[in-house]
Amino acid sequence: MKGYYSDTERDLPAPSDARARRRAPVGRRLALLAGLGGAFYLALARVQLTPEDQRVQAYADGVAAHGFGPACKWRGGHRIPPHKAEKIYLNVPSNDSCAATSARYAAHAHPAGSGWDMVTAQTVKGDWEKALGLKASWYGEHVFDAGSAESQARVRDSHKATEPYVWIDTYYPVMNTPVFAGVTLFSDPPVHAKLREARVEGDSASELADEVRVFHGLSVSGDVTAQYIYAGYGRKDDFDLLQAKGLDFAGKIAVVKYGGNFRGLKVKAAQEAGAVGCIIFTDPGDDGEMTEWNGHKPYPEGPARVPSSVQRGSVQFLSQYPGDPTTPGRPAYKNATRDAGGNFPSIPSVPMSYEDVIPILNALKGRGMPAGDLGDAFNGGLTHWGVEYWTGPSDVQLRLVNEVNTRVMPVWNTMAFIPGHVTDEVVIMGNHRDAWVLGAADPSSGTTSQHELVRGLGALRARGWRPMRSILLASWDAEEYGLIGSTEWAEDFGDWLQANAVAYLNLDSSASGSNFRGAASPSLALLLRGAAEEVARPDGRSVWAARADGGTWGPASVHADADGDRAEGADADEETVDWTKNEGKGSGIRPLGSGSDYTAFLQRYGVAATDMSFKGGPADAVYHYHSVYDSPAWMRRFGDRAYARHAESARVLGLVLLRLADALILPLNTTQYARDLVYYAERVDALGADVDLRPLGEAIARLRAASEGLDRERGELERRLRRAMRGRWCWGWGCGREVRKILAAIRRVNRKLRDFEKGFLAPEGIRGREWYRHKGTAPGKWLGYGATTFPALTEAITIEKDLERAREEAAALTALISAMAMRLAM
Ligand SMILES: [Zn+2]
Repeated sequence: MKGYYSDTERDLPAPSDARARRRAPVGRRLALLAGLGGAFYLALARVQLTPEDQRVQAYADGVAAHGFGPACKWRGGHRIPPHKAEKIYLNVPSNDSCAATSARYAAHAHPAGSGWDMVTAQTVKGDWEKALGLKASWYGEHVFDAGSAESQARVRDSHKATEPYVWIDTYYPVMNTPVFAGVTLFSDPPVHAKLREARVEGDSASELADEVRVFHGLSVSGDVTAQYIYAGYGRKDDFDLLQAKGLDFAGKIAVVKYGGNFRGLKVKAAQEAGAVGCIIFTDPGDDGEMTEWNGHKPYPEGPARVPSSVQRGSVQFLSQYPGDPTTPGRPAYKNATRDAGGNFPSIPSVPMSYEDVIPILNALKGRGMPAGDLGDAFNGGLTHWGVEYWTGPSDVQLRLVNEVNTRVMPVWNTMAFIPGHVTDEVVIMGNHRDAWVLGAADPSSGTTSQHELVRGLGALRARGWRPMRSILLASWDAEEYGLIGSTEWAEDFGDWLQANAVAYLNLDSSASGSNFRGAASPSLALLLRGAAEEVARPDGRSVWAARADGGTWGPASVHADADGDRAEGADADEETVDWTKNEGKGSGIRPLGSGSDYTAFLQRYGVAATDMSFKGGPADAVYHYHSVYDSPAWMRRFGDRAYARHAESARVLGLVLLRLADALILPLNTTQYARDLVYYAERVDALGADVDLRPLGEAIARLRAASEGLDRERGELERRLRRAMRGRWCWGWGCGREVRKILAAIRRVNRKLRDFEKGFLAPEGIRGREWYRHKGTAPGKWLGYGATTFPALTEAITIEKDLERAREEAAALTALISAMAMRLAM
C-alpha cells in the first residue's frame, strides 16, 4: 500500500484540518498558528485515544473542516462548508465536457471481456487519476487480480488512507461470445433470417454491427428444428394462459416479443413449458408514437426504429441470482471453485428484428387461435405490415441454431477511494462501463455523467475539501451479462460493505430519453427527489418538473426499450404499479427491483440504494436499446442533442452524493420508509388473501413511532451541538467535552441509520432463490426488472398460492419489522 499512505501514518492519520490549513491564505495566519498548535496537541492527545474515541475524533475533525451551522462564531476553519461545496460542485459538469467524454467512451464496441473493454477500464483509471489530481500511472500499475493481497488491501485497509487512490480489480466469471446464429423457416422457398443489423447511410457506427453479432449473453449452444408457437410477451402468465387453452409447447420453439419482463425470464418460462428453443423479437408496437405508420422515418433519417435493429442482451435467470453463474454468493477469483451454475437457460435462444420475424409470424396465419382473442397484449405493431398475429403451432418447421463460445473470461472493475474524515461510513457510487456494442446511452451516458461527477469531486479536492465520509467510486464491468462486476465485488467484500457502507448510488444509462426517473430505497427517496427538484433544466424548470416531457406511457403500454422499469403498467399485472402515481402517499420514487448494479448491494447486503436516469417516453425518438444504433450519432441527433441531460444527471447525482458524504447526520429518512411500508402492506391486503395482516400493520406502526422518536433525537442533537458550539471556535479538538459527547451520540444515531436497511435481510433468504435476502423488496420472480414489495409474502399468495406459507411469511416479516422498530428505539 506504499504510495497511498506512509507507514507512520497507519495508526495515526495526519489531522486533515491542520494539513489543509497549511495552504490557508495570508489573512488566516492566526488559523495557521492555531492549527499547527492544535495538530501538535492532537498528536499528543491521540496517543491515548481508544478506537471509539478516535472515531468520535474523526467526526470532530470533519466538523472542524466543514463547519456546522451558522452558530459557529469563527468561520475561518470552515474551509468549505457543505452548501459551498455543493455550489462549487454544481458549476463543474458541462455539456461540452460531456460531449467530448461520451465521444471517447462510445467510440468502439466494448462488450465485457473484450480488448476495448480493457482499454476503457484503463481510460477510466487515467481519467479519474487526472480528475482527482493524482499522479498518472502506467497501464500495468494498480491492476490486480481479485482476491490478491493488493486488491483486498485497497478496500480492507481503506480506513488508513489519507489520499485518494485508483485501481483495477480483475474478476474471472464464465461468460460467452457469439460464434454463429441462424434461423431458417422451411416454407417454400425457405426463408433465412438475416440476424444482422443493417449498415445505414448517415451513421458510420452502423458498420460496426458485426463486431458483436446478434446473440443472447449467457445463452447456450443448440441446433433445433421444430414447429413453433407465438406466445405474446412470453411471460409466465402468457405461457400459462396458452397451455390452459390447450397449446402444447413440448418439443416446439417459442416465438415471443420483448417487453413486460426481463428477457431471461421469457426463456425460463419457455423452457419450463417444454419448449426446445426461443426467439425473442422486437415489436414496433411498443415504440410509442415515433413509428413509421405515424409518418416518421426510420433512423437515421427520422426517429422511428430501424427495421433490422436487434436487442442483444443477457438471458440470465436474473431473479434466481445475478453475477457469475458458476460462483453464486462467492467472488469469481481466477482460481475459484466453480459450480455448474443454475441461473441460465438450457435451451438455445436468439434475439430477432421485426423485419426478420414478419415471414415467421405470417406463416402462422390461420393456425391455432387469433392471438388478439387472448387479449390486446398478444397483438402488436406488425399489423401495419399486414401481419395477423396467430398463436400456431405452425405447420412448417423452423430451424434455430445458436453457437456460442462459453468460457472463463477476465472482467475489469475500475475503482477509486476518496478518504473522508470518517472512514467507516462510506458512500458508494457505481456505474457499469461495458456495452453490448458502442452503447452511447447504455452505459456511456452514465460513464460520462460519472466522469463529470468525479471531475466535480476533483475540483473540490483542489480547494482543500475532504468529504466528511469516505467515498468509493466504481466503474463496473460485465453488467450486461448479468450484473457480474458489481455482484462479484459485493460478494468479495460483503462483510466490509455491511460494516461500512451507508448507501449505494447507481447509474446505468443516464440519458436515453427525456423523462427523469428515480428509484430508491424509501429512506433515500426524498433525498433523490429533492436533488432532482433543485437542479434546473435549460428552460428553468427543474429536472423533477420535466419528468414527463417525453409523454407518459399509457396504462396498457409495454415499453420494450427502456432499461430497468419497463414493466410499468404492463397489462395491469398485479406486480406492476405506477409508483409515480403514489405521490399523495409517498415520494413519487419507485422501489428498486433489479436490472442494474444496485442489486447485490441492496438485495443481498442490505445497503440502501438509489438509481436514476432520463428515459424515453412515448413521444421521444425510439431508443435502439442494446443495438448498434445506440451510437454517438443517434445521441447527437435524437437522444440528448446538447448533452444537457448527461450534465444534469451528474448534478442531481452529485447533490445526493455530497449530501450523504458531508451531512453530519446521515440524510436517511426512516420515517418515509415506514410510510412506504404501509403502502406495501396495503398492496398485499389488496390481493384479498385470507392472511391476517393486522400484526404486520402494528409492527409497521411501531416502526414509524420509533422512527419519529429518532427524528426528534436527531433534531435535539443538532440543537445541542449548535448550542455547545455557540461562541466557540469550533475546531474538533477545541470544542470540549460536551461537543464530544454530542458527537458520540450523533455517531450512534448514524449507526442506526446506516444499519436500518439491513433489518430487512433474512439470513435464510427468499425461499427458492436464497441468494436474495431482502424481504422488503426483490425483483419480481417472473419480472426481473420490476420490484415486488414484500416479495416472499406477496409471491406466496400470487405465485405459490400457498396460504399457509403466506401466513408464515407474514409472521416472519412482522418479526423482522418489530426487531427493526426495537433497534431504532434503543
Ligand atoms: Zn446498462
